[in-house]
Amino acid sequence: MFDKIVIANRGEIALRVLRACRELGVKVVAVHSEADRDLKHVRLADESVCIGPANSADSYLNIPAIISAAEVTDAQAIHPGYGFLSENADFAEKVEQSGFVFIGPKADTIRMMGDKISAKNAMIASGIPCVPGNNDPLSDDAEKNLKLAREIGYPVIIKAAGGGGGRGMRTVHTEAALINAISMTKAEAGSAFGNATVYMEKFLEDPRHIEFQVMADSYGNAIHLGERDCSMQRRHQKVVEEAPAPFITEEQRKFIGERCAQACVDIGYRGAGTFEFLYEKGEFFFIEMNTRVQVEHPVTEMVTGFDIVKEQLRIAAGEKLSITQDQVKIQGHAIECRLNAEDPRTFMPCPGIIEQFHMPGGPGIRCETHIYNGYKVPPYYDSMIGKLIAHGETRASAIARMNTALNEIIIDGIKTNIPLQHDIMTDSAFAAGGQNIHYLEKKLGIYK
Ligand code: ADP
Repeated sequence: MFDKIVIANRGEIALRVLRACRELGVKVVAVHSEADRDLKHVRLADESVCIGPANSADSYLNIPAIISAAEVTDAQAIHPGYGFLSENADFAEKVEQSGFVFIGPKADTIRMMGDKISAKNAMIASGIPCVPGNNDPLSDDAEKNLKLAREIGYPVIIKAAGGGGGRGMRTVHTEAALINAISMTKAEAGSAFGNATVYMEKFLEDPRHIEFQVMADSYGNAIHLGERDCSMQRRHQKVVEEAPAPFITEEQRKFIGERCAQACVDIGYRGAGTFEFLYEKGEFFFIEMNTRVQVEHPVTEMVTGFDIVKEQLRIAAGEKLSITQDQVKIQGHAIECRLNAEDPRTFMPCPGIIEQFHMPGGPGIRCETHIYNGYKVPPYYDSMIGKLIAHGETRASAIARMNTALNEIIIDGIKTNIPLQHDIMTDSAFAAGGQNIHYLEKKLGIYK
């Protein structure tokens, strides 16, 4: 195992990685921006290095500063968390070229999966079902594009090959709108992601978002840890996640899960990863792979009893997978509510000082947050300030426990989305399970 690693992230995930390090006896170097000196994991770390100003472009995205922090502290590896540089192939490459271990897949794998077109093609080659589409960059040939859309059938969606974070896509319902939509998406993708390549696929009207967690080592072993349902979304961003996905049968889990594990072997995948699918009318359609730990990993940990972050560290240190597929057992049900510092009605971010914080507890409750009394939520970063996870024997008991925890938790001083989470947890359609990705926006009256 490593002696010391750098955590190149902030907030709750940095704290989560620190906790895994503590358990494994690994020392931690926290790198942070000038605005983040008071982060909980910075205070708990063995060493900390300020890597730049508040603006993430100058700190959490500053590759030379992060690598020098690893050099000056004599660390051996870098954990990128999620977001920031976690899916940046150039970063992974520079980390390894500088003599450190990148806790994640190889740079080439990240590059291949970071381009949604090459990812889809790799998945098709591995027998993973994908959304019907062209799977090639769209040309500027209007006639050809119109013909393609006719073949796929309207509605279609134009997506940026390098897109992420729910941005860089446009739905097209009619032929009249197609050509303009392609050029607009291209222009936006060029400026937002530095890559104007777009592709076209069938727009699924009422799908659920179901994703499979995988874990692979460097010796050709891969397993899946079952699936999560992340259909409660707003603006393509997940709000609530759960495992297992309601109404997915053991046969479906086995069929898709095993294909995902096999795809990991085929592409030489290493570490933790997620295969994201849209699920409609009993069929799965791959949309993309995330080559990192995800925000919602705890729901899988709660139902499998398996520590994904610890395993990431072990695999990066050169160990073999610690369990086999037959040892993976799904027990009970887990739900995660993301806690955001935002107005529950307008969704405007709401940074500020936490005047009072009370952590909820009780059986099956897990609270992943870096906030504490007196902590100041800075305005510069994502508004997520934590996650509440509830595990129960059944889905109904997980919901009941989540409701109790949402009633118990106190976060004063800033506005949070706790009232929204409460509305979702007491919603009868949510209780029934299996709602599609538009359900939450329809409930909020903002569905277009
Ligand atoms: P990102 O990398 O930005 O997260 P994804 O490809 O994972 O992009 O898609 C994010 C979300 O966008 C999905 O969860 C879904 O809500 C919507 N989406 C993407 N592709 C389609 C599609 N073909 N049909 C319908 N919705 C889609």
